[in-house]
Amino acid sequence: AKAKGRNTFHFYSQELNAAANERLFIENELRIGLKEKQFVVYYQPQVDSRTHQVVGYEALLRWFHPTEGAIPPDKFIPIAEATGLIVELGEWVLQESCDFAVRLAEQGLENNISINLSARQFKDSSLVTTLSKMIIKSGVSAKRLHLELTESMLMGNVEAAITQLHELKALGISISIDDFGTGYSSLSYLKRFPVDILKIDRSFVKDIPEDTNDMEITAAIIAMAQKLKLDVVAEGVETIEQMQFLQNNNCFIVQGYYFSKPIAEHELPNLYERLNEL
Ligand code: C2E
Ligand code: CA
Ligand code: CA
Ligand code: CA
Repeated sequence: AKAKGRNTFHFYSQELNAAANERLFIENELRIGLKEKQFVVYYQPQVDSRTHQVVGYEALLRWFHPTEGAIPPDKFIPIAEATGLIVELGEWVLQESCDFAVRLAEQGLENNISINLSARQFKDSSLVTTLSKMIIKSGVSAKRLHLELTESMLMGNVEAAITQLHELKALGISISIDDFGTGYSSLSYLKRFPVDILKIDRSFVKDIPEDTNDMEITAAIIAMAQKLKLDVVAEGVETIEQMQFLQNNNCFIVQGYYFSKPIAEHELPNLYERLNEL
Protein backbone atom coordinates (compact mmCIF):
# COMPACT_ATOMS: atom_id res chain seq x y z
CA ALA A 1 0.00 0.00 0.00
CA LYS A 2 2.88 2.29 0.85
CA ALA A 3 4.57 1.67 -2.47
CA LYS A 4 1.36 2.32 -4.31
CA GLY A 5 0.93 5.62 -2.46
CA ARG A 6 4.38 6.67 -3.49
CA ASN A 7 3.74 5.73 -7.07
CA THR A 8 0.52 7.70 -7.09
CA PHE A 9 2.30 10.72 -5.71
CA HIS A 10 5.09 10.34 -8.21
CA PHE A 11 2.59 10.09 -11.05
CA TYR A 12 0.68 13.12 -9.76
CA SER A 13 3.76 15.30 -9.48
CA GLN A 14 4.80 14.29 -12.98
CA GLU A 15 1.42 15.43 -14.24
CA LEU A 16 1.78 18.73 -12.42
CA ASN A 17 5.21 19.10 -13.92
CA ALA A 18 3.89 18.48 -17.40
CA ALA A 19 1.20 21.13 -16.90
CA ALA A 20 3.72 23.62 -15.53
CA ASN A 21 6.07 22.91 -18.40
CA GLU A 22 3.35 23.39 -20.96
CA ARG A 23 2.46 26.70 -19.36
CA LEU A 24 6.05 27.83 -19.44
CA PHE A 25 6.42 26.69 -23.03
CA ILE A 26 3.32 28.61 -24.11
CA GLU A 27 4.40 31.71 -22.20
CA ASN A 28 7.77 31.77 -23.98
CA GLU A 29 6.28 30.96 -27.35
CA LEU A 30 3.67 33.71 -26.94
CA ARG A 31 6.43 36.32 -26.73
CA ILE A 32 8.13 34.89 -29.80
CA GLY A 33 4.84 34.52 -31.64
CA LEU A 34 3.99 38.16 -31.08
CA LYS A 35 7.35 39.24 -32.51
CA GLU A 36 7.19 36.82 -35.43
CA LYS A 37 3.59 37.55 -36.35
CA GLN A 38 2.23 34.04 -35.84
CA PHE A 39 -1.20 35.42 -34.93
CA VAL A 40 -4.12 36.04 -37.24
CA VAL A 41 -7.55 37.45 -36.49
CA TYR A 42 -10.44 35.39 -37.83
CA TYR A 43 -13.93 36.79 -38.19
CA GLN A 44 -17.22 35.04 -37.52
CA PRO A 45 -20.28 36.67 -39.07
CA GLN A 46 -23.33 37.72 -37.09
CA VAL A 47 -26.19 37.29 -39.49
CA ASP A 48 -29.76 38.57 -39.64
CA SER A 49 -31.55 35.24 -40.00
CA ARG A 50 -34.50 36.89 -41.82
CA THR A 51 -32.46 38.39 -44.65
CA HIS A 52 -29.16 36.46 -44.47
CA GLN A 53 -27.38 39.81 -44.38
CA VAL A 54 -24.20 40.06 -42.34
CA VAL A 55 -24.67 42.70 -39.65
CA GLY A 56 -21.30 42.27 -38.01
CA TYR A 57 -18.36 40.06 -37.21
CA GLU A 58 -16.77 38.82 -34.01
CA ALA A 59 -12.97 39.00 -34.08
CA LEU A 60 -11.47 35.74 -32.82
CA LEU A 61 -7.77 35.34 -32.33
CA ARG A 62 -5.93 32.45 -34.01
CA TRP A 63 -2.39 31.27 -33.33
CA PHE A 64 -0.60 29.26 -36.00
CA HIS A 65 2.55 28.01 -34.34
CA PRO A 66 5.36 26.89 -36.68
CA THR A 67 5.82 23.47 -35.02
CA GLU A 68 2.73 23.01 -32.81
CA GLY A 69 0.22 23.98 -35.47
CA ALA A 70 -2.96 25.80 -34.47
CA ILE A 71 -3.11 26.43 -30.71
CA PRO A 72 -6.70 27.17 -29.61
CA PRO A 73 -7.49 30.39 -27.68
CA ASP A 74 -8.76 28.43 -24.68
CA LYS A 75 -5.19 27.13 -24.30
CA PHE A 76 -3.27 30.38 -24.60
CA ILE A 77 -5.63 33.24 -23.64
CA PRO A 78 -5.65 32.30 -19.91
CA ILE A 79 -1.84 32.18 -19.93
CA ALA A 80 -1.60 35.47 -21.82
CA GLU A 81 -3.99 36.90 -19.22
CA ALA A 82 -2.00 35.57 -16.25
CA THR A 83 1.32 36.88 -17.59
CA GLY A 84 -0.02 40.25 -18.73
CA LEU A 85 0.91 39.53 -22.36
CA ILE A 86 -2.80 39.83 -23.14
CA VAL A 87 -2.50 43.62 -23.06
CA GLU A 88 -0.10 43.67 -26.02
CA LEU A 89 -1.91 40.84 -27.80
CA GLY A 90 -5.28 42.46 -27.17
CA GLU A 91 -4.08 45.81 -28.51
CA TRP A 92 -2.97 44.07 -31.65
CA VAL A 93 -6.42 42.47 -32.04
CA LEU A 94 -8.05 45.88 -31.56
CA GLN A 95 -5.78 47.42 -34.20
CA GLU A 96 -6.42 44.60 -36.70
CA SER A 97 -10.16 44.84 -36.09
CA CYS A 98 -10.22 48.61 -36.65
CA ASP A 99 -8.31 48.17 -39.92
CA PHE A 100 -10.70 45.39 -40.97
CA ALA A 101 -13.72 47.60 -40.25
CA VAL A 102 -12.17 50.37 -42.36
CA ARG A 103 -11.60 48.01 -45.29
CA LEU A 104 -15.23 46.90 -45.08
CA ALA A 105 -16.42 50.51 -44.89
CA GLU A 106 -14.39 51.29 -48.03
CA GLN A 107 -16.49 48.64 -49.79
CA GLY A 108 -19.63 50.31 -48.50
CA LEU A 109 -20.21 47.63 -45.84
CA GLU A 110 -21.36 49.07 -42.54
CA ASN A 111 -20.65 46.01 -40.43
CA ASN A 112 -20.03 46.07 -36.70
CA ILE A 113 -16.89 44.42 -35.36
CA SER A 114 -17.15 42.80 -31.92
CA ILE A 115 -13.89 42.45 -30.05
CA ASN A 116 -13.34 40.33 -26.95
CA LEU A 117 -11.78 42.25 -24.10
CA SER A 118 -9.95 40.45 -21.32
CA ALA A 119 -10.39 41.39 -17.66
CA ARG A 120 -6.89 42.77 -17.59
CA GLN A 121 -7.47 45.03 -20.58
CA PHE A 122 -10.77 46.28 -19.20
CA LYS A 123 -9.19 47.21 -15.85
CA ASP A 124 -6.25 48.94 -17.53
CA SER A 125 -6.59 52.69 -16.97
CA SER A 126 -5.00 53.42 -20.36
CA LEU A 127 -7.63 51.48 -22.34
CA VAL A 128 -9.74 54.52 -23.21
CA THR A 129 -6.75 56.57 -24.39
CA THR A 130 -5.38 53.64 -26.39
CA LEU A 131 -8.72 53.12 -28.09
CA SER A 132 -9.30 56.77 -28.76
CA LYS A 133 -5.88 57.08 -30.45
CA MET A 134 -6.55 53.94 -32.46
CA ILE A 135 -9.91 55.22 -33.65
CA ILE A 136 -8.40 58.49 -34.83
CA LYS A 137 -5.39 56.85 -36.48
CA SER A 138 -7.32 54.13 -38.30
CA GLY A 139 -10.22 56.37 -39.27
CA VAL A 140 -12.74 53.77 -38.15
CA SER A 141 -16.19 54.96 -37.20
CA ALA A 142 -16.37 54.29 -33.44
CA LYS A 143 -20.00 53.25 -33.68
CA ARG A 144 -18.86 50.19 -35.66
CA LEU A 145 -16.88 48.91 -32.67
CA HIS A 146 -18.47 46.65 -30.08
CA LEU A 147 -16.54 45.47 -27.06
CA GLU A 148 -17.48 42.10 -25.57
CA LEU A 149 -17.11 41.82 -21.80
CA THR A 150 -18.21 39.07 -19.43
CA GLU A 151 -20.36 39.53 -16.35
CA SER A 152 -17.54 38.56 -13.99
CA MET A 153 -15.42 41.44 -15.32
CA LEU A 154 -18.08 43.90 -14.18
CA MET A 155 -18.79 42.40 -10.78
CA GLY A 156 -15.54 43.05 -8.87
CA ASN A 157 -15.45 46.81 -8.47
CA VAL A 158 -18.88 47.80 -9.73
CA GLU A 159 -18.41 51.57 -9.47
CA ALA A 160 -15.09 51.47 -11.35
CA ALA A 161 -16.66 49.26 -14.00
CA ILE A 162 -19.55 51.67 -14.51
CA THR A 163 -17.15 54.61 -14.87
CA GLN A 164 -15.01 52.71 -17.37
CA LEU A 165 -18.09 51.71 -19.39
CA HIS A 166 -19.31 55.32 -19.53
CA GLU A 167 -15.90 56.46 -20.79
CA LEU A 168 -15.87 53.78 -23.47
CA LYS A 169 -19.37 54.69 -24.51
CA ALA A 170 -18.38 58.35 -24.67
CA LEU A 171 -16.00 57.34 -27.49
CA GLY A 172 -19.04 56.09 -29.40
CA ILE A 173 -18.36 52.39 -28.83
CA SER A 174 -21.07 49.82 -27.96
CA ILE A 175 -20.83 47.27 -25.16
CA SER A 176 -21.90 43.61 -25.32
CA ILE A 177 -22.23 41.21 -22.42
CA ASP A 178 -20.68 37.95 -23.62
CA ASP A 179 -21.74 34.46 -22.47
CA PHE A 180 -24.80 36.05 -20.89
CA GLY A 181 -26.52 33.91 -18.28
CA THR A 182 -23.45 31.98 -17.22
CA GLY A 183 -22.05 34.57 -14.80
CA TYR A 184 -23.19 35.96 -11.52
CA SER A 185 -24.56 39.37 -12.33
CA SER A 186 -27.98 40.08 -10.95
CA LEU A 187 -30.64 41.81 -12.97
CA SER A 188 -30.48 44.91 -10.78
CA TYR A 189 -26.83 45.34 -11.73
CA LEU A 190 -27.56 44.79 -15.38
CA LYS A 191 -29.81 47.84 -15.27
CA ARG A 192 -27.04 49.98 -13.79
CA PHE A 193 -24.42 49.06 -16.38
CA PRO A 194 -24.61 51.09 -19.59
CA VAL A 195 -24.60 48.08 -21.93
CA ASP A 196 -26.15 47.73 -25.38
CA ILE A 197 -26.17 44.06 -26.34
CA LEU A 198 -26.63 40.70 -24.62
CA LYS A 199 -25.05 37.63 -26.19
CA ILE A 200 -26.90 34.48 -25.21
CA ASP A 201 -24.34 31.85 -24.32
CA ARG A 202 -23.95 28.79 -26.53
CA SER A 203 -24.63 26.51 -23.55
CA PHE A 204 -28.31 27.58 -23.65
CA VAL A 205 -28.59 27.24 -27.41
CA LYS A 206 -26.83 23.97 -28.05
CA ASP A 207 -29.55 21.61 -26.76
CA ILE A 208 -32.48 23.40 -28.41
CA PRO A 209 -34.99 21.88 -29.26
CA GLU A 210 -34.44 18.90 -26.92
CA ASP A 211 -33.92 20.68 -23.60
CA THR A 212 -37.09 22.53 -22.59
CA ASN A 213 -35.35 24.24 -19.65
CA ASP A 214 -32.79 25.77 -21.98
CA MET A 215 -35.58 26.89 -24.28
CA GLU A 216 -37.39 28.60 -21.39
CA ILE A 217 -34.19 30.32 -20.27
CA THR A 218 -33.37 31.47 -23.79
CA ALA A 219 -36.88 32.85 -24.32
CA ALA A 220 -36.71 34.60 -20.93
CA ILE A 221 -33.35 36.23 -21.71
CA ILE A 222 -34.68 37.52 -25.03
CA ALA A 223 -37.84 38.89 -23.38
CA MET A 224 -35.80 40.56 -20.67
CA ALA A 225 -33.41 42.10 -23.20
CA GLN A 226 -36.38 43.57 -25.04
CA LYS A 227 -37.79 45.05 -21.81
CA LEU A 228 -34.42 46.63 -21.07
CA LYS A 229 -34.18 47.80 -24.71
CA LEU A 230 -31.02 45.83 -25.35
CA ASP A 231 -30.15 44.10 -28.60
CA VAL A 232 -29.66 40.39 -28.38
CA VAL A 233 -27.34 38.07 -30.31
CA ALA A 234 -27.49 34.28 -30.00
CA GLU A 235 -24.20 32.42 -30.16
CA GLY A 236 -23.44 28.85 -31.11
CA VAL A 237 -26.39 28.48 -33.49
CA GLU A 238 -25.70 25.30 -35.43
CA THR A 239 -29.07 24.09 -36.72
CA ILE A 240 -32.09 25.41 -38.56
CA GLU A 241 -34.29 24.30 -35.63
CA GLN A 242 -32.30 26.49 -33.26
CA MET A 243 -32.53 29.41 -35.65
CA GLN A 244 -36.29 28.98 -36.03
CA PHE A 245 -36.81 28.75 -32.28
CA LEU A 246 -34.88 31.99 -31.87
CA GLN A 247 -36.88 33.68 -34.64
CA ASN A 248 -40.15 32.60 -33.03
CA ASN A 249 -38.93 34.23 -29.84
CA ASN A 250 -37.85 37.49 -31.51
CA CYS A 251 -34.11 36.98 -31.68
CA PHE A 252 -32.97 37.53 -35.23
CA ILE A 253 -29.23 38.13 -35.02
CA VAL A 254 -27.40 34.84 -34.82
CA GLN A 255 -23.79 33.74 -34.81
CA GLY A 256 -22.76 30.12 -35.22
CA TYR A 257 -21.71 27.28 -37.46
CA TYR A 258 -25.15 27.21 -39.11
CA PHE A 259 -24.12 30.30 -41.06
CA SER A 260 -20.35 30.16 -40.76
CA LYS A 261 -17.35 29.26 -38.65
CA PRO A 262 -14.83 32.02 -37.93
CA ILE A 263 -12.99 32.64 -41.21
CA ALA A 264 -9.98 34.50 -42.56
CA GLU A 265 -10.68 37.78 -44.33
CA HIS A 266 -9.83 36.33 -47.75
CA GLU A 267 -12.70 33.85 -47.35
CA LEU A 268 -15.35 36.60 -47.29
CA PRO A 269 -16.34 36.13 -50.97
CA ASN A 270 -17.12 32.44 -50.26
CA LEU A 271 -19.17 33.48 -47.25
CA TYR A 272 -21.30 35.91 -49.30
CA GLU A 273 -21.88 33.22 -51.89
CA ARG A 274 -22.91 30.69 -49.24
CA LEU A 275 -25.29 33.13 -47.55
CA ASN A 276 -26.90 33.86 -50.92
CA GLU A 277 -27.53 30.19 -51.54
CA LEU A 278 -28.87 29.33 -48.09
P1 C2E B 1 -16.19 33.42 -27.00
O1 C2E B 1 -15.92 34.87 -26.94
O2 C2E B 1 -17.39 32.92 -26.27
O3 C2E B 1 -16.25 33.07 -28.55
C1 C2E B 1 -17.13 32.15 -29.13
C2 C2E B 1 -16.45 30.82 -29.33
O4 C2E B 1 -17.43 29.89 -29.81
C3 C2E B 1 -15.36 30.84 -30.40
O5 C2E B 1 -14.37 29.90 -30.02
C4 C2E B 1 -16.12 30.37 -31.64
O6 C2E B 1 -15.27 29.80 -32.62
C5 C2E B 1 -17.02 29.33 -31.03
N1 C2E B 1 -18.23 29.10 -31.82
C6 C2E B 1 -18.92 29.99 -32.57
N2 C2E B 1 -20.00 29.43 -33.13
C7 C2E B 1 -20.01 28.15 -32.73
C8 C2E B 1 -20.90 27.04 -32.98
O7 C2E B 1 -21.89 27.13 -33.69
N3 C2E B 1 -20.58 25.85 -32.37
C9 C2E B 1 -19.48 25.71 -31.58
N4 C2E B 1 -19.23 24.52 -31.06
N5 C2E B 1 -18.63 26.74 -31.32
C10 C2E B 1 -18.90 27.93 -31.89
P2 C2E B 1 -12.81 30.24 -30.12
O8 C2E B 1 -12.54 31.06 -31.33
O9 C2E B 1 -12.07 28.96 -29.93
O10 C2E B 1 -12.56 31.18 -28.87
C11 C2E B 1 -12.69 30.71 -27.56
C12 C2E B 1 -12.64 31.83 -26.56
O11 C2E B 1 -11.36 32.45 -26.54
C13 C2E B 1 -13.62 32.96 -26.87
O12 C2E B 1 -14.92 32.59 -26.44
C14 C2E B 1 -13.01 34.09 -26.08
O13 C2E B 1 -13.38 33.99 -24.72
C15 C2E B 1 -11.53 33.80 -26.22
N6 C2E B 1 -10.95 34.66 -27.27
C16 C2E B 1 -10.85 34.48 -28.60
N7 C2E B 1 -10.26 35.52 -29.21
C17 C2E B 1 -9.98 36.43 -28.23
C18 C2E B 1 -9.34 37.73 -28.21
O14 C2E B 1 -8.95 38.33 -29.23
N8 C2E B 1 -9.22 38.33 -26.97
C19 C2E B 1 -9.68 37.72 -25.82
N9 C2E B 1 -9.52 38.39 -24.66
N10 C2E B 1 -10.27 36.53 -25.83
C20 C2E B 1 -10.42 35.88 -27.00
CA1 CA C 1 -17.05 36.65 -27.43
CA1 CA D 1 -19.34 34.01 -26.03
CA1 CA E 1 -16.81 32.18 -23.78
